[in-house]
Amino acid sequence: PQSKSIDPRSLLGGRALFPGDEQYDVRRRVWNGMHDRQPAMIARCGSAAEVSAVLRWARSEGLAVSVRGGGHNVAGSAVADNAVMVDLALLNAVGVDPVAMIAVAGGGALLRDLDAATTTHGLACPAGVVSHTGLGGLTLGGGYGWLARKWGLTCDHLAAAEVVLADGAIVEASPDGHEDLFWALRGGGGNFGVVTKFTLRLRKVGPVVHQTGVYALARAAEALAAYAGFAEQQPLDLHTVGALKTAGHHRWIPERLRGKPALFLTAGWFGPEADGPGAIAPLFRSVPPDGRLDQVLSYADLQALGDCSEPAGNRYFTKSCYLSDLTSAPAAALVEAGHEITSPLSSIDFEFLRGAIADVPDAESAFPNRSAPYIVTASAQWTDAGEDETHAQWSRQAVDRLSPWQHGGAYVNYVQDVRHQGTTHLYGDNRYHRLATTKSCYDPENVFRHNQNISPVVA
Ligand code: FAD
Repeated sequence: PQSKSIDPRSLLGGRALFPGDEQYDVRRRVWNGMHDRQPAMIARCGSAAEVSAVLRWARSEGLAVSVRGGGHNVAGSAVADNAVMVDLALLNAVGVDPVAMIAVAGGGALLRDLDAATTTHGLACPAGVVSHTGLGGLTLGGGYGWLARKWGLTCDHLAAAEVVLADGAIVEASPDGHEDLFWALRGGGGNFGVVTKFTLRLRKVGPVVHQTGVYALARAAEALAAYAGFAEQQPLDLHTVGALKTAGHHRWIPERLRGKPALFLTAGWFGPEADGPGAIAPLFRSVPPDGRLDQVLSYADLQALGDCSEPAGNRYFTKSCYLSDLTSAPAAALVEAGHEITSPLSSIDFEFLRGAIADVPDAESAFPNRSAPYIVTASAQWTDAGEDETHAQWSRQAVDRLSPWQHGGAYVNYVQDVRHQGTTHLYGDNRYHRLATTKSCYDPENVFRHNQNISPVVA
């Protein structure tokens, strides 16, 4: 019901930004520099009540709405032309109860806000690997990261959520109330409401044994085969990831490899520190790397390790898929895509998943594809707008090369080409049907449509 609405200018004062306002251009920008959109207004909300008032007003004015968490979505869904952007950045406080091992984070918190609050207690919530990513979009889409095999996805750690619905009502979704909404929030993205508080279960974390090996591309297929054999057997305390990307100018990387595409294999050990080197050793034993970096990091430092390589404002195009297999033929296809990289900033990232991700019963949450063995992401990055098509095409082709070995579906948080493909294929027919049914109940007019959208029309 649309009760009387308050004009955001009187409600938010200087926190309602319009074209021409000093902060308007700063706040409308999102991480992916490809998206240069002009919202009608930016509402910098400081509470659930303000979010509610802004939603009611936007609807009464017939204005579309977008929601900005951390602004990191590759598709730039946090901002839309002529829409009202509900900007949650001020809702970034994180409170921790170290005894109950619970954190309550604002809907606009970044991963670094969460880690800063939890790691002082030796605790963490499993989340993504770059600390300037928004907790909001990441959790609602799933949330892969270093601890996912050991303990599950970020959405698997969601205990409750405070949600502002499309009609402005503020509700709590949990296993004990609005259960369908709670199910849909864990994997269905930002389709069902604005989450203003995430209550998250925490885990104990200690120092992380972290080792990276680099291989010349000529040796990559052989190293990948060894990786696949190792990764599929690795203990849950170990998580290994790989990347095909241009080698940097670091002392530990042999000079002959610097500035050229190379394969990187990285292991993180989350068990007792003394056991780490022994657990990782077999990864590098059969195909020894050309260069290697061994370190022990705090969990917070690990989380910030990738922060500089994907800066805000550069241009990005991402395409991703799940893979069933990484033995010789798919490994060769991956290496071929590595040879074809069109920008020195681009990378192909992959990792073996399963573990605790696959242990969660499939029907428990909206998150799909839990049994997928590998995820591969071709992430194109460049700076010159004139080169958009070249690099996006490389990313599409890299993933298309892998089509014979694809597991089906894709991870909603890595989907950029959404207008071309829709989202049904991400979830499969049955799960999509349940998502659409929940959407028709909580957002029948599709107010929350600037996202990887679930239609409220139940087929
Ligand atoms: P935004 O662009 O702000 O929002 C994305 C979508 O979520 C929008 O539709 C928005 O409306 C909705 N949304 C955001 N917050 C809320 C909220 N509080 N309530 C309701 N809707 C909301 N993903 C992983 O799983 N693991 C990783 O390790 C990982 N690393 C990444 C590293 C980088 C550099 C980047 C750019 C992305 C990474 N991602 C990763 C993908 C990430 O999960 C998505 O980009 C996610 O959408 C980011 O969330 P955000 O809040 O920053 O996004």
